[in-house]
Amino acid sequence: MSKGRSKALPVRLLRAAALGGLVGACARSGAGESSTAGRDSSAPAQGVNPTPALPAAPGHVEPGSSTTEGAVPPPPASDDGSTPTSVESSVPGPSAPTTPGAAPGAGGATTVPVSAPETATTVVDAAVAADPVASDRFERDATVPAPRVLVFSATAGYRHASIEDGVEALVKLAEQRGWRLRATEDANVFTATGLEEVNVVVFLSTTGDVLDPDQQLAFERFIRAGNGYVGVHAASDTEYDWPWYGGLVGAYFNAHPEIQRATIIVEDGSHAATRHLPTGWTRTDEWYGFRTNPRAQVDVLLALDESSYSAGQSAMGEDHPIAWAHEYDGGRAFYTALGHTPESYGESEFLQHLVGGIEWAAGL
Ligand SMILES: [Zn+2]
Repeated sequence: MSKGRSKALPVRLLRAAALGGLVGACARSGAGESSTAGRDSSAPAQGVNPTPALPAAPGHVEPGSSTTEGAVPPPPASDDGSTPTSVESSVPGPSAPTTPGAAPGAGGATTVPVSAPETATTVVDAAVAADPVASDRFERDATVPAPRVLVFSATAGYRHASIEDGVEALVKLAEQRGWRLRATEDANVFTATGLEEVNVVVFLSTTGDVLDPDQQLAFERFIRAGNGYVGVHAASDTEYDWPWYGGLVGAYFNAHPEIQRATIIVEDGSHAATRHLPTGWTRTDEWYGFRTNPRAQVDVLLALDESSYSAGQSAMGEDHPIAWAHEYDGGRAFYTALGHTPESYGESEFLQHLVGGIEWAAGL
């Protein structure tokens, strides 16, 4: 299985006046992603033997109705193979090493120092620069206070190949939107001091038990102080034994079918995360089903039209929420199950969905 901690990204801070530079060319494993698609798994086994399904896809686990996302972890060979890439920051962290401008590359990552901090230029690799996000599309009103974003992507279970793509995309969005952003896989940032400079924490496809009890308590206090949480994709495949977190994310992952196209119904088009979307939004992803329907506790923003794809054991029937928002224990929580694939982080509509969710959760 993917030993998340053994693959934890080294935190590199590139101190720049506004936004630090970044981020290296991680190995974009397009082929690898397609060959490993759908093989999420998570650490906390629930005592139920998963039933292997879809034998044509070695390593795939189609969890039963009461299992976590693939209780049988994928073999290392099926891991994404991409190179963990780290990242940048403009929010100095209390425990992270500071390596201004010249963080050493690791595992093929290329970190580009920012030579002109005052321009807040984030230098990115060619693959990211070529993505379809228009440079002017995400501009925001500079008179509004900027979100201070912590992106947390530690994995104790399955590790998504798309994490590096997601971090790169968020770094670029931070530059475009004027956010301050730090990305880390170091759970030690979850202290009162470590969180005091941010107002929204993004759990980017985290899996399994990633925070210890003290770190959990620090995060609960962070939310109770009026701050925000954003969960992306496997954030619902995380911390099954922390009931408070279950309430925050809204619902825990249950199962998913193979990656395929599906149509999303925009239920609430008034939210910052959905205003830009067409009423019926058709795209390709790994579509989660959940253990419970969160509708009674949250504002459902997006739901899946189950007639548009083959949900299999992940089916929830007529009412299948897939993204939502709610106020929770004094703070704000936004969750989207979208974002399994690396390609997601090159989709303008999906990125705008994330931007809206993050800025809403930050209290804008
Ligand atoms: Zn996934």
